[in-house]
Amino acid sequence: MADCLFCKVIDGSIPAKIVTQNDKLVAFRDINPQAPTHILIIPKEHIESVKDLKPEQAPIMADIALMAKEIAKQEGLEDFRCVFNIGASAGQSVFHLHMHLLGGRPFSWPPG
Ligand code: 5GP
Ligand code: ZN
Repeated sequence: MADCLFCKVIDGSIPAKIVTQNDKLVAFRDINPQAPTHILIIPKEHIESVKDLKPEQAPIMADIALMAKEIAKQEGLEDFRCVFNIGASAGQSVFHLHMHLLGGRPFSWPPG
């Protein structure tokens, strides 16, 4: 997608601190971290949000969860929070599906 910020991170035209990647996913550090560890995990395929996920694309959600688990281990996180903001009023500002992986401080519930 020509106008998508995260597609530009994937193709390298916008620099990012890449944590890890594979053939399906890229993980990189959030530019405006909300916790000591704040990493975004995104599919290389452009999908706007969880709402747009087709049944045949659903396995990517499991891939994202497994990558989050591995990164949390690498970052030394025993506890961590994973968040999908889905839609603008839920806080989504970049319309390329992404999971926030946050850790390194306590989190409260309910979220703001
Ligand atoms: P959302 O608000 O859509 O759930 O999350 C988008 C996230 O992308 C935000 O946490 C924001 O700080 C992050 N972000 C926006 N622009 C950039 C960028 O150019 N580089 C990186 N690394 N993160 C970005
Ligand atoms: Zn995109």
